[in-house]
Amino acid sequence: MRKTVMAAALTAVFSTAAVAESPIGLVIHGGAGTIERANLSAEQEQAYHDGLRLALEQGYAVLQAGGSSIDAVVKAVTILEDNPLFNAGKGAVYTWDEQHELDASIMEGATRNAGAVAGVKHVKNPILLAQKVMTESVHVMLSGEGAGQFALEQGLEQVDNSYFNTEFRYEALKRMKAAQGSLPHQAAVAADPNWQMGTVGAVAIDRDGNLAAATSTGGMTGKRYGRIGDSPIIGSGNYADNSSCAVSATGHGEYFIRYQVASDICARVKYQGLSAQDAADTVIQQVLLPAGGTGGVILVDAAGKLGWSFNTPGMYRGMIGSQQPLTTAIFAED
Ligand code: ASP
Repeated sequence: MRKTVMAAALTAVFSTAAVAESPIGLVIHGGAGTIERANLSAEQEQAYHDGLRLALEQGYAVLQAGGSSIDAVVKAVTILEDNPLFNAGKGAVYTWDEQHELDASIMEGATRNAGAVAGVKHVKNPILLAQKVMTESVHVMLSGEGAGQFALEQGLEQVDNSYFNTEFRYEALKRMKAAQGSLPHQAAVAADPNWQMGTVGAVAIDRDGNLAAATSTGGMTGKRYGRIGDSPIIGSGNYADNSSCAVSATGHGEYFIRYQVASDICARVKYQGLSAQDAADTVIQQVLLPAGGTGGVILVDAAGKLGWSFNTPGMYRGMIGSQQPLTTAIFAED
C-alpha cells in the first residue's frame, strides 16, 4: 500500500517536472524580398518548402537530443548554405565582378560571445568559420584574406569560388547589369523592386533556456568593391542576448546596418518591456519601412516564444517548438 502511494507520489513529481520542462524552439528564414506566388512554379514552391523543412527537422533534432541552441542554429544554417536555392553558401549571388563573397555571423545569448566573417571566397560553409572565430580566436570579426587564412588553419573545407556558381544567379546578375549597370549601386537597388536578395538564418532556444542566432549570406546581386552587408555585423543582421531575444535578419543590408535592426529589437524588449513580436513589428513596419528599408527578421524570446516579422511580399521561413508544430511558409498571406 505504502509502496503504491510512494509510486504515485513519484509519478506526480516526474510528471510535474515533465510539464515544467523549459521550452525548446527553432525559427529559420531563407531570405525576404519580392517573392510572389505568380513568380514561383508549384515545383519551385515545393522545393523551397522541402529545403526549409529539412533544415528545421535537423536543427530541431539537435535541440530534442539536449544539444545547445548554438549547435542547432549551426546545423540549420549549414543545411541551408548547402542548398543552392538559397543565397548563402552554394547558390550565393554574384558580385559585379562575377565572384562570390560570403558573409556570416553567430552569437550566443548566454555569454554574448560572437563570431563573424566577411568577404570570404573559399570556405564551403561560412557559418562554420564564424563559429570558429567565436570559439577559437580572440576576435569577433575577420574579413577577406585574413578570414581565409584562419579557415585554412582551422582545417575547414575549402572550395574553388566557382563551387558557389548557379545558373539562375548568373542570369540575375546579367539582368541586373543590363538594366542598371550605369547607375551607382544604391540607386540601382532603389530603382529595382525585384532586386535579388536573400540570406539564411536561424534562431533557437535550448533546454537550458539559452538563445542563439546565426546568419549567412552571399549578399546582394552585383555588389561592388568589397561591400559588406548587415549579415556579419553583430547588432545589425544578427543578435542574441538571453535577457531579451535572439534575432536573425534578411533584407536590404545598408538599412539594417544604419538602423541596427537586430539589436534595436532586443533593446526594445529589454528596456521598454515589449514582447519580442511587438518590438520586431515596430522596428520592421514603423521604423524600417518608412525609411525605405525592406526585409524581415525571425526571433525567439527568453520564454521560448517564436516569431517573425517582414515588410516584403514574402519571406522563406519556418518554425518548430515544444508547443509549435513544424510549419513552413513563403508568402505574406501564408
Ligand atoms: N541582408 C543581406 C545583405 O544585405 C541580403 C539579404 O538578406 O537579402 O547582404
